[in-house]
Amino acid sequence: MATAKLTIDLAALCRNWQALDVMTQCETAAVVKADGYGLGASRVARALANAGARRFFVAAAEEASAVREAVGTGPEINVFSGHMAGDTDMIADLGLTPMINSLDQLLRHVEALPGHAFGIQLDTGMNRLGMEPAEWSAVRSIAEDQNPSLIMSHLACADEPDHPMNAQQLQLFRDMTQGLQTPRSLAATGGILLGSEYHFDVTRPGVGLYGGFPFRDAEPVANVSIPVIQCRDVQAGETVGYSNTWTATRPSRVATISAGYADGLIRAMGASLDLFYGSRACPAIGRISMDMIGVDVTDLGEDPDAFDILTKDQTVDTLAAAAGTIGYEILTSLGARYTRRYV
Ligand SMILES: *Cc1c(COP(=O)(O)O)cnc(C)c1O
Repeated sequence: MATAKLTIDLAALCRNWQALDVMTQCETAAVVKADGYGLGASRVARALANAGARRFFVAAAEEASAVREAVGTGPEINVFSGHMAGDTDMIADLGLTPMINSLDQLLRHVEALPGHAFGIQLDTGMNRLGMEPAEWSAVRSIAEDQNPSLIMSHLACADEPDHPMNAQQLQLFRDMTQGLQTPRSLAATGGILLGSEYHFDVTRPGVGLYGGFPFRDAEPVANVSIPVIQCRDVQAGETVGYSNTWTATRPSRVATISAGYADGLIRAMGASLDLFYGSRACPAIGRISMDMIGVDVTDLGEDPDAFDILTKDQTVDTLAAAAGTIGYEILTSLGARYTRRYV
């Protein structure tokens, strides 16, 4: 079998959730958008529900059906994009709680589904989703009469603890929600780490659950093992891969492994990528192809059957840095070709 294996450690995922949960006095939800950050929303949500999570967040109503099926009717599923045209049946049938982003969405919601649960999303400066202060002042009393179940906003710079934006957004969120009886939520993973004033009633961690920065103490959740298809000897002066970007400077042994940029091993990682045989690192050489990568195994002294890529020394964040991106993008790019195994 040539497909690479993606092993997802659900016990580590749950320990990460618990570790973030004990940092606060409030409810810890779980963000499972984008198919659980690429790791499989139904398996992830079911494991977290068993570990105690009672509330999940998805980006779009379409993402919620797998989650509802996985967790049953008890837990609340909140939808960041709110109540979009065409969502009414899904919201009703799956029992979703849209996070309403505008007066238009509020009207759509109360007209289509009077009495159905909803939350409110406020914009405190990120200018992405939610009602701005002026719109909220106009809508607030109407919204309050309809009993929203949660009111939230999102921090733009929470992974930079010293950024002045954090305190600004905190103050505005407090001002905009003062006197409300509704439970409040401001913190994602980064916000949890900023300290208790950011916690309010519900936190919404995502990336930290899956082992990524800014939760530095997170346990790795994803492990990738890539089979070796073939090994060969390469003479000094010969080249490996597209565009001849690597030339052997000595007689070398080169392994060709079965994964590439179509598997989320972004081409820009290039030569910064290490492949691990046990604890021994071998460098990727030449261009990363769609389905294959060359590995210099000369110094190993043997031909391995497979390599790992995610280890304590090479995390999703190390790989992200090598590709000029963030761990979130590495996780969500891992793609569908892997043989997935949950442990
Ligand atoms: C993605 C997202 C989260 C989770 O953020 P992490 O940084 O992954 O913890 C929380 N809230 C909102 C609004 C989001 O879009």
